[in-house]
Amino acid sequence: MKIVDLKTHAVAVLTEAPLRHSTGVHPGYFVRTIIELVTDEGLVGLGEVGGGDQSGLFQTLKPRLIGEDPFHIERIKQKTLRQIYYISNPRAYATIEIACLDIQGKAIGRPVSDLIGGRLRDEVPFNASISYRYREGDAGGETTPEEMVAYTRRAVAECGFRSGKLKAGVLPPENDIAILYALRDALGPDFGLRVDPNGFWSRGTAIRVAKQLEACHLEYLEDPTWGLEGMARVRERTSIPLATNMCVARFDDFAAGVAMNAVDIVLSDIYYWEGIQGVKTLAGMCDAFRLGLGMHSGSELGVTLAAMVHTAATLPNLTYSVDTLYHHMLDDIIVGGKMPFRNGCIAVPRGPGLGVELDPDRLAKAEELFRQRGDYYARFHEDTRRPDWFPINPGW
Ligand code: MG
Repeated sequence: MKIVDLKTHAVAVLTEAPLRHSTGVHPGYFVRTIIELVTDEGLVGLGEVGGGDQSGLFQTLKPRLIGEDPFHIERIKQKTLRQIYYISNPRAYATIEIACLDIQGKAIGRPVSDLIGGRLRDEVPFNASISYRYREGDAGGETTPEEMVAYTRRAVAECGFRSGKLKAGVLPPENDIAILYALRDALGPDFGLRVDPNGFWSRGTAIRVAKQLEACHLEYLEDPTWGLEGMARVRERTSIPLATNMCVARFDDFAAGVAMNAVDIVLSDIYYWEGIQGVKTLAGMCDAFRLGLGMHSGSELGVTLAAMVHTAATLPNLTYSVDTLYHHMLDDIIVGGKMPFRNGCIAVPRGPGLGVELDPDRLAKAEELFRQRGDYYARFHEDTRRPDWFPINPGW
């Protein structure tokens, strides 16, 4: 079997309201690039990646893929990820690997999870992202503990989530602390709670906030401050486990992270960690060092979400629910629309490959929305409601 073509689609999908984070705002939609890897046997593998419109990148890589066998992913990895160090792009390779595994599964009639060890669980639990939102129409605008609790309760009622993560660092830390205690009171002692200011607190603020949150029984504190050194010093001063998707975010960071005792939990990500196979390798490394393992969300649509669910289902040491922003989205580009949450979980697709297919009508609509709205990743930090603002780290 040989790869004969690679097609790309830049798409945009609306969210219910703009989502704020410590370094800016997702302005009411997410942008993704979908790829279709076409073979000479008529099988088509799907891939997806974030970070704006990546079509140009894939057209650059396309000549290296034409003629390759989609079963030979180690060879494809060398040609697309390892060939030239200064243009090494793990996200691009991961996207191609997802599409190759989709083709492999379709070729042998087995789900991707069966190609990577087989599923240990039939459904994967997810963790609701709880973001400050700007108001748009009838939705959003929450800032107070009461408003954030009401909005989280709605997500819990609709999707059955059993854990949630506050995207902090938008407002002063005292507001985040009050919200977390209000969520604890409202949702009970068994509801999993996390907080992530994306490294936006100073080391001193992070230590002070951690002390004030000790009684809130968090699952973990995620990237409270910037970098391995900052995280290591905060970790000395708190009993709350520290997690990261920022300072141990690629294989080159791992040894230093362990040597410096910087973190307790590494949040895997198919794109940061060089594909699904890379996440499997990371899981083994975390197990060897008895580090916890979670999974980061990058505002994915159904193709990536399926890849995440297949991967997560095969990881024995994935003891934390997987992060998601999916509940914020109004639609998807796959057949059937959004994958449903049941009791906070998504079922592992059973069809061949990823088990999801593109819906031509939804895809066309999402491509049109991208053409209308444009690629906000080029102006990622812009906040149109605060035109003169830009993030200065540490913010608090
Ligand atoms: Mg994070």
